[in-house]
Amino acid sequence: MGHGDTVEAHGQRALAAIQPNHTGTTMARGEGSWVWDPEGRKYLDLVSGIATLNLGHGRPEVLAAAQAQMHTLAHGGGAFLDQPVYAFAERLAGITPDGIDSILFSATGSGANESALHMARVATGRDDIVSFRGSFHGRTEAALAASVSRAEFRTKILATDVTVAPFPHVEAPGEEPDDLADRALAELDEIHETECLPEEVAAYVVEPVQGLGGCFPAGERFLSGLRERADRYGILLLFDEVQTGMGRTGAWFAAERYGVTPDALTSAKALGSGFPISALATRHELVESLQKSGHGSTFAASPVACAAGQAAIDVVEREGILERVWASGEVVLARLDAIASEHESLRRARGLGYMLALACRDREAAVAIAEGCIDRGVLVTHSGMHADTVRLIPPLTISDEELDFGLGVVEEAAAAADAAP
Ligand code: PMP
Repeated sequence: MGHGDTVEAHGQRALAAIQPNHTGTTMARGEGSWVWDPEGRKYLDLVSGIATLNLGHGRPEVLAAAQAQMHTLAHGGGAFLDQPVYAFAERLAGITPDGIDSILFSATGSGANESALHMARVATGRDDIVSFRGSFHGRTEAALAASVSRAEFRTKILATDVTVAPFPHVEAPGEEPDDLADRALAELDEIHETECLPEEVAAYVVEPVQGLGGCFPAGERFLSGLRERADRYGILLLFDEVQTGMGRTGAWFAAERYGVTPDALTSAKALGSGFPISALATRHELVESLQKSGHGSTFAASPVACAAGQAAIDVVEREGILERVWASGEVVLARLDAIASEHESLRRARGLGYMLALACRDREAAVAIAEGCIDRGVLVTHSGMHADTVRLIPPLTISDEELDFGLGVVEEAAAAADAAP
């Protein structure tokens, strides 16, 4: 089955039609940067499981580590700990920013954010959370309450006490990121004066690069401004690095790219290289504050995911993947910018590392370009606050030739969309 599949087309009624399918395709097999549909048609994967498969599909070292662990001890369910959990925590603490060296595992990004928000409330004794327009933090209740990339996400949310502050979204040509950052910070100060006392805020929660919102980098000036206010008021600064973490931006964590250290960060998606695991990384005294709250989750810290995650860290280090993504991300962004300037269906390019996006003329253009890419054998998604963005999140291991092919197809699809009314 190819692009535009529906659950019905498979003759199946059991799978809920809302089961997520961001590209509208069905795939049977994956290898490296490529996936194949059940008819054997081949696609270049510029989605990577929405930033999950940083090493591509079926990376042999990851599979070997997972397979070996499956045969040794596959699951503990929280009844006991196992060696891979200790080893992976140690390894992860070695790549998180200095001082962020206590790890609490969960199974999903939402779960890790839920732990982070809970921890912030318990550790500070305060209730309020400030999140930033365009953000996405997950689909559990506190994570959803903090998500402001789409209004429908917020229906029937019970956990309140989330105040939404502006994020420096650079949209128009000639807008200076630092000016926008200063304006957003000034509005945050205004919010603290008029709506939400800083002394009642437990945490600022922010994605260093907004993912689902449309790949908007927060920038160093904005994040430093948050750091400075967090220190001034005793607020915890939480970085949601579920999507930006594990090398996606060309550093282990985007915190490092911006030189701003949060009090805690969350990681998921690529953490287990395709196996489900997430983590809250923070300081010992903060996470210890959760001790009396009976924290736990049956599928947290799967030993198989821990083994896979460790193998993935080894590959990234051995092959110098971070350095490559850091340098190549800038080249690709420049090329996307050039493409954007030549096509009416596109407005601009933005992103950091291999977390890139093309802002399209409108929602229709984004859909047309995404579908045009898929029809031509390149998987991309369209997303963004206004669903007017095409996101490119390739495997970090994609070759220059594959990238060249993918960008060529994106340009063809944009050219075809130029002509559309
Ligand atoms: N935070 C961010 C930044 C995300 O991109 C996502 C998932 N798209 C989440 C949290 C939620 O993660 P999960 O789907 O694993 O619960």
